[in-house]
Amino acid sequence: MIHPPSPVSEALLCDVLVVGAGPGALCIATALAQHQLQVILLAAQDPWQPWPNTYGIWGHELDDLGLGFLLAHRWHHCSSVFLGEELNHGLDYGLIDKHSLQQYWRQLCIQHGVCVKQDPAGTIHHHPSHSEVCGVSGQLYRARLVVDASGHRPIFVQRPHCPGVAQQAAYGLVGRFSKPPIRPGSFVLMDYGASHLSPEEPQHQPTFLYAMDLGNGRYFVEETSLAAYPPLPFALLKHRLERRLQWHSCSLEQVYEVEQCLFPMNLPLPNRRQRVVGFGGAATMVHPASGYMVGALLRRGPGLAAAIAQGLEKGCNGMALSRMAWQNLWSDDLVRRHGIYRFGLEKLMALSSKDLQTFFHTFFQLPQPLWSGFLTNTLPIPSLTGAMVRLFARAPWTIRRHLIWPQGRELNLLLTGLLLR
Ligand SMILES: Cc1cc2nc3c(=O)[nH]c(=O)nc-3n(C[C@H](O)[C@H](O)[C@H](O)COP(=O)(O)OP(=O)(O)OC[C@H]3O[C@@H](n4cnc5c(N)ncnc54)[C@H](O)[C@@H]3O)c2cc1C
Repeated sequence: MIHPPSPVSEALLCDVLVVGAGPGALCIATALAQHQLQVILLAAQDPWQPWPNTYGIWGHELDDLGLGFLLAHRWHHCSSVFLGEELNHGLDYGLIDKHSLQQYWRQLCIQHGVCVKQDPAGTIHHHPSHSEVCGVSGQLYRARLVVDASGHRPIFVQRPHCPGVAQQAAYGLVGRFSKPPIRPGSFVLMDYGASHLSPEEPQHQPTFLYAMDLGNGRYFVEETSLAAYPPLPFALLKHRLERRLQWHSCSLEQVYEVEQCLFPMNLPLPNRRQRVVGFGGAATMVHPASGYMVGALLRRGPGLAAAIAQGLEKGCNGMALSRMAWQNLWSDDLVRRHGIYRFGLEKLMALSSKDLQTFFHTFFQLPQPLWSGFLTNTLPIPSLTGAMVRLFARAPWTIRRHLIWPQGRELNLLLTGLLLR
C-alpha cells in the first residue's frame, strides 16, 4: 500500500503523521491505527526494504506479548563469561526474525488502513490546532499530531545538547568456521575472556564477544564495546574479533553478512514540552545500560497510542495533546529510572575490564527477576533501587568504593533524572 507522492500540493489530512519506517515508526503507526485513527506514515526510502540491524531480545519479552512466533531462533542455553567463569543465565534469549516482524506490522498497516507514503519529511510548521509537514516531494501533510520516529538523529524532535555521548560499537559477522566458535546450539551474551590480548590491552577498552549459533553450521559472532566515548573504532573491534577466533584456532571459512553497529547509549531525554512527539530512538528509548529497545517499543507503543487516541477523542489539540502524549511516553517514574540508568552506565564506563567483569559477575547473581527486570526496564523504582542496594551489598569493596564516589558528571546525570530536570 505505498502511495507515490503526488505532485499536487493540496494538503493530505490525517489524525497522526508518523515519520520513519523503522521498528519505532511501524510499531506506533499500527498501534495508533488500531484506535481507528487516520494515520499517514512517511518513509524516507522504500518502507519495506529489509532493515539492516540484527535484533536480539529476551524470549519472555515477546512471549509476554503473545509474539513469541516472531523469533527466528530461540536459545535455552544462554551464558556469559566473566573473570574466566561461565555463568548460565537460565533464561531464553532469541533472535528476532526481522523480516517477520516487518511483515507483521505491514499486515497491520493494511488491515487498519495506515497510509504509507515514500516521501522523506522535510520541514514542519505548527498551528494552534494542527501541524503541517512538507515532504521533500513538495506534498503537504496536515496532522493533528506529528510523531517523529526517524531514529537516533531525529528530523524534528529536539533534545538538549549533550557532549560526550557514549556509543555502543560492535563489529560482527555471520559466517561458517573451521570449528564452532561457541558451544553448538548456544547463545553467548557477553564473553569478556581476553586471553588472546596482552594483559594491558583490554583494561581501558573492554570488549566482549556476543555470539549465537544460527544453525546449519552458521554462527553470528560480534566483538562489542558496551559503551564508550569516543566510540571504539570498527577496525579495532574487527582486529580483536579476528584475534579471539585465532586464539581458539577457529578460522573463518565463509562470510555471509557483516554488521557494523554504532548507536548512542546515554543520550539525554528529549524536551517533553515540545510539539512533536518522539518514539523509538528519536525519543531516547534505548535502554542506557544495555542498548536494547525493541521490547520497550512493543510494551510502550500501545499505551502511547491509547493516550493519543483518548486525547483526540476529548478534543485535545496543539501543545496540550503533545504534553499528554509525552507524559505517557516518559512518565515521571520512567524519567527517574532513565536518570538512574544513565548514572549507572557512566559508572560502568569508568571501570577497568577486571572491575567491570566483577560488577557483572555480581549483577547476574541477583535473583533472576531483578537482573532481567533491570535489563528490560520493567522494575518500578522501589524494586530498581532495591536491586541496586542488593548489588551493592554483594559487591566486593573494590566495586563498592567505585559505586559510592561520584566522579565527573555522574551525579549531575542522576539528579537530572531524579529531579525531572
Ligand atoms: C546495528 C544495531 C543493532 C542493534 N541491535 C539491537 C538489538 O539486538 N536489540 C534491540 O532491542 N535493539 C537493538 N538496537 C537498538 C535499536 O533497537 C535500533 O537502533 C532500532 O533500529 C531503532 O529503531 P527506530 O525505528 O527508532 O530507528 P531506525 O531503525 O533508525 O529507523 C529510523 C527510520 O526513520 C527513517 N527516516 C529518517 N529520516 C527520515 C525523514 N526525514 N523522513 C522520513 N523517514 C525518515 C529512516 O529511513 C528509518 O526508516 C540496535 C541498533 C543498531 C544500530
